[in-house]
Amino acid sequence: MSDHVKEYRVGDSTIVKITEQLLRNVAPAFLYPTAAPGQFDDIAAFLDAADLEDSGSEVPLSIHTWLIRTPEHVILVDTGSGNDKERPLNPMFHRQSIEYIERLQAAGIAPEDVDYVFNTHLHVDHAGWNTVWRNGRWVPTFPNARYVFPLAEEQYYSSTASHNEANIPSRGVYEDSVLPVIEAGLVDRIAPEGGKFLDIFEFIPTTGHSIGHMSIKMSSNGEVAIFAGDVMHHPVQVLRPEWNTVFCEFPDDARKARRRVLEYVADNNVLYFATHFPGSSAGRVQRNGEAFQWTYE
Ligand SMILES: [Zn+2]
Repeated sequence: MSDHVKEYRVGDSTIVKITEQLLRNVAPAFLYPTAAPGQFDDIAAFLDAADLEDSGSEVPLSIHTWLIRTPEHVILVDTGSGNDKERPLNPMFHRQSIEYIERLQAAGIAPEDVDYVFNTHLHVDHAGWNTVWRNGRWVPTFPNARYVFPLAEEQYYSSTASHNEANIPSRGVYEDSVLPVIEAGLVDRIAPEGGKFLDIFEFIPTTGHSIGHMSIKMSSNGEVAIFAGDVMHHPVQVLRPEWNTVFCEFPDDARKARRRVLEYVADNNVLYFATHFPGSSAGRVQRNGEAFQWTYE
């Protein structure tokens, strides 16, 4: 947890990572089921030390929130998996007890201080801290915030269409982490075409990982950053953009969105903020002939 205090500056705004948890010893063969055996080992030598466990054959994955302070607002991008959630089919996230709010407070932010919560999408590890369990019910964690997420995500996860085998990892998330903030009247929806938000932000459709997934571009004083959610889970996908994770629901669209984001980020020197990369979780993409490479900042 030692790296969550590193502060980035984009124009007039600052950005720090609030770590929720670090998943350890994830097997690449589980994460990238379509990669052929041995393919991961072939490219492991090109990864940063932070991207690999000491074994060299497994990877760590971070789950965290990006805390943005603009001159006017306090904004959280993605809210991890949350405490006390019932996830019996997903034991990794079942009835957790994590000192996440304490870490936010250590960064100088009380729940009441948050003005906006952005969810790139509504999977189990991105909307968890939208709510907390208090007095026998789920209530908004950030009572003064507007919660902002793609309309298509709400429509899908509130429908029976999403309650199938493929969505077991996110079952229950709509009911305990999304519906309570809707019922509290705190939600702003982003239409499927995306759009500008608060002058410096733009929601950009990057569907594929999930049905309405969006990346969030931030421009301030000529500097540009992007919070790209689950367009990629690990830097190995900068080197192998054709690899989808086991969690990507619409494989063809996910691959297209990943390549589009990589090209945009590389060609415009955009600071990339990932939601699951280990290490500092932020960095830049350079072109390397037809391929791409990743450098942490
Ligand atoms: Zn995720």
